[in-house]
Amino acid sequence: MNANQEFDDALATIACRAGTSQTAELENSDPIYATSSFRFKNAAQAAARFSGNEPGNVYSRFTNPTVRTFEERLAALEGGQCAVATASGMSAIMGLCLGMLAAGDHVVSSYNVFGSTINLFKNILSKFGIEFTFVDLVDQQAWEAAIRPHTKLLFLETPSNPLTEVADIGALAALAHGAGALLVVDNCFCTPILQRPLALGADIVVHSATKYIDGQGRCIGGAIVTSRDIVDNKLIPLMRSGGPSMSPFNAWVFLKGLETLSVRMQQHSRGAGIVAAWLAEQQWVNEVHYPGLPCHPQHDIATRQQSHYGGIVSFEVVGGRDNAWRFIDALRLFSITGNLGDSRSIVTHPASTTHCRISAEDRARSGIGEGLVRLSIGLEEPDDLIADLARAANV
Ligand SMILES: *Cc1c(COP(=O)(O)O)cnc(C)c1O
Repeated sequence: MNANQEFDDALATIACRAGTSQTAELENSDPIYATSSFRFKNAAQAAARFSGNEPGNVYSRFTNPTVRTFEERLAALEGGQCAVATASGMSAIMGLCLGMLAAGDHVVSSYNVFGSTINLFKNILSKFGIEFTFVDLVDQQAWEAAIRPHTKLLFLETPSNPLTEVADIGALAALAHGAGALLVVDNCFCTPILQRPLALGADIVVHSATKYIDGQGRCIGGAIVTSRDIVDNKLIPLMRSGGPSMSPFNAWVFLKGLETLSVRMQQHSRGAGIVAAWLAEQQWVNEVHYPGLPCHPQHDIATRQQSHYGGIVSFEVVGGRDNAWRFIDALRLFSITGNLGDSRSIVTHPASTTHCRISAEDRARSGIGEGLVRLSIGLEEPDDLIADLARAANV
């Protein structure tokens, strides 16, 4: 499958080059501007910068050149006009909601989203009078039925975590626009290398850069990519006064991550495809969730809207939590941790970790059973990963 190969190649070039501006030192790698504030030539310039009459740097909570390079490069990759970098993926989602919404507004969200996103919506933002309705990601009629006169945003992740369900972005964008709302896609699992939601009709993309954009599990960060109008009028005022800004050092790590993102996403996808096909043949496995498998319920949509199927595979171990934990503990190559998108393969038991703070009822509704195991396939040799999985299953 490589219908989008030409497109991938163009993205690889953008990922290495976009946003770079050179200083008089003629450095070939982007510098880190480790400064909290910027100097002015004189008092009059300081006044002009503070008032906004003259563009330019003032303070790194507002703008920083290393952070700006990251924002420009990510916006170019997503095909958006502008990006705003944030301290974490969660602060991107929080900043987006605080910037765009007011008391009385309503949001329809998939309930198959990141656990902290559900908590942010249900337990924190709802305290300020923003209302949320949760629906099944792949049930178009449920999305339609949930829309109200004050619905401002539709929010989803695709593929979802951890079950890799795939939403039809174009269909949900049409639904949002028909209702005068905007579609937000958390593109963390695919990155712009595999999927570009804005080109499919979405209005806003959010990212946890912590995952694949870093790619080696070093830094926490996030971003929002959307139109210049939304960035200038809704997000920048929130960022300046609310302050969830990205640090210049983290921006530099993410910039370097973007330069290798294209090759990494292709390799993660290749490895995950091999592991998923192998798991699907094992007696000790009940069900395998991977959009690249022809038996995946939304395989066709994934093939149409993604250039590759991504690095996340989850599966149900026969025998529930006891067997799942025994299996996880017997693995040697996989790291037991909650992160994903690392060069090192990771194993997670969602029910007792990433999704432990959501109610058992919500977990059951989302299909996150006690035997479910999530793998984030790294960059190791797939045969070595399979050997480790096979050995752990036979312990
Ligand atoms: C990790 C993650 C987040 C949150 O990002 P942080 O950088 O950890 O704050 C949001 N959405 C998805 C899909 C994630 O995997």
